[in-house]
Amino acid sequence: MVNTAQNFDAVVVGAGFSGMYMLKALRDKQGLKIRVYEAGETVGGTWYWNRYPGARCDSESYVYCFTWDKQLLQEWQWSERYPEQPEILRYLEHVAQRHDLKRDMQFSTRVTSAEFDETTNLWTVRTDTGADVTARYLITAVGCLSDTNLPPFEGLEKFRGKWCHTSRFPRGGIDFTAKRVAVVGTGATAVQAIPEIAQQAKQLTVFQRTANYCAPARNGKVDPERVKARKADYDGVVRRIRSSFSGFEYSAIPKSALDATAEEREREFDRMWDAGGFAFWMANYQDMRSNQEANDLCADYVKGKIRKIVKDPLVAEKLIPKGYPCGTKRPPLDSNYYETFNKENVLLVDANTDGGIEEITETGIRAGGREYQFDIIVFATGFDAMTGSLKALNLSGRGGCKLEDVWADGPRTYLGISIAGFPNLFTITGPQSPSVLSNMPVSIEQHVEWVANCIDNMRKTGKTTIEATPEAQVQWVAHVNEIVGMTLMPRANSWYMGANIAGKPRTFLPYLGPEGVGGYRKKCDDVAAKGYKGFEMT
Ligand code: FAD
Ligand code: NAP
Repeated sequence: MVNTAQNFDAVVVGAGFSGMYMLKALRDKQGLKIRVYEAGETVGGTWYWNRYPGARCDSESYVYCFTWDKQLLQEWQWSERYPEQPEILRYLEHVAQRHDLKRDMQFSTRVTSAEFDETTNLWTVRTDTGADVTARYLITAVGCLSDTNLPPFEGLEKFRGKWCHTSRFPRGGIDFTAKRVAVVGTGATAVQAIPEIAQQAKQLTVFQRTANYCAPARNGKVDPERVKARKADYDGVVRRIRSSFSGFEYSAIPKSALDATAEEREREFDRMWDAGGFAFWMANYQDMRSNQEANDLCADYVKGKIRKIVKDPLVAEKLIPKGYPCGTKRPPLDSNYYETFNKENVLLVDANTDGGIEEITETGIRAGGREYQFDIIVFATGFDAMTGSLKALNLSGRGGCKLEDVWADGPRTYLGISIAGFPNLFTITGPQSPSVLSNMPVSIEQHVEWVANCIDNMRKTGKTTIEATPEAQVQWVAHVNEIVGMTLMPRANSWYMGANIAGKPRTFLPYLGPEGVGGYRKKCDDVAAKGYKGFEMT
């Protein structure tokens, strides 16, 4: 491999929504030499890697897109309320082409380490293609949900059939026709994939460790009049999602579920359930995630729906979530998920009642002492969320301190965008920012614009380094933990809490700000307006 040292002003790692916009925003500030490294073969990130059957967004398409290209907001026609993966990838490819982004991107290249040099104040970035480059600014756009979690199931190497993880699904797909298929996992991915696979497979067996609270997506074509009205008011849409709680046009019912009468509650629950999408989770009573009694009312409503849809009461009982409050794990949106368990060719193996997975055998999976035979196993086991892909960068900051050591007990950041001891490093949608609790393009755009403005400001004021102070970081971490401590969120074994990965410190990873993404945006803008309060600049 060639090892030609090159110097850049900024290196961006990742070419999904975040890396693409970061490049565009930095280019617009002019005069910067930028390189984007991407492990995949093209742009798209999540939408390049996740090609499993049924993959589509859960955010509605009119807000799951870039809002900075106003003309494209008018021109692009989404086919459905929640478009499928190929359509979103096509959209991102179109954006890359329209803005000539690929000329500064290097694909099929993984960043393997980066070190901050205190004498030059530059980052040295290494990749698996052998090139060492330097950069004044290092910007991670590596994705909160991009580091695949394949649990170390014993015996997997012995399995003689085909297997794959949903986030590394083979291009061209897998033909499940006449096959005995296992799906391991029942998170948002599995909830999308299971109904699709069940339609093809001879026999589908689903291995569930924790049952989820799912609400109907209600996908379909969007009424053309509605599309027209939204396009006519896109400035309004953008204003509203940016100042909202979760980056959507939802606001919670401003009262306690306990203050509503039973009839009123039922009416509201029905309305949200019928609307589909995240309405049930984001437009519900305001104390749903903070008051156990209020939460129980919402949970009971969903449990009632499961019991109604699933015909076999024993299967329904297995699908009913237990032991954690609803909405404290990321709620999947379903299209015929519960109905799929009424099919004759679908079997549910529940770890709690039937026994968990013990090992993978040559011919299948042994769980609860019983052997199940398969031709294909699909692992829908998720990601080492939020910290996995950042730790994999092998970052060394001041004094050679390693990120993995600094974060041994969980992530510590200032605003989720900066880490004390790691100058000129910016983490787009990093841990302890709203990120995964929001419609992500809104949070991505906010971070990208903040970083681009910050770098612009540094260049204009002749600064070479910016770095969070340890004091500001301590305060931010305390604030993040204090706020989430007032909610029910820590009560679930969720990936938000790092609980899906054996040995991962149990700590709430994103930031559940009291005023949501709108309030968080104000905090970040306020920091900038006060001369980057909480940062040291030299
Ligand atoms: P990603 O899209 O994850 O891109 C990160 C990129 O960085 C990847 O391409 C990766 O290859 C690259 N990378 C990582 N490490 C390295 C390295 N060391 N060197 C080089 N390249 C590297 N969010 C929503 O808001 N709404 C939705 O409906 C929604 N649906 C989703 C569906 C699925 C199946 C999944 C998995 C996630 C979904 N998300 C959704 C979250 C989604 O990840 C974000 O919406 C968004 O796509 C994130 O963009 P990103 O650019 O920050 O990260
Ligand atoms: P996930 O939510 O983490 O689900 C993984 C599933 O695998 C869970 O059911 C988990 O059980 C199970 N599992 C993990 N390790 C296991 C083990 N060792 N043994 C048995 N079961 C195991 O992952 P995901 O479904 O890929 O979704 C991750 C996130 O990506 C979502 O929450 C969402 O943010 C995003 N996503 C979004 C969309 C969308 O918006 N359209 C679609 C897919 C994904 P436990 O619950 O017990 O851990």
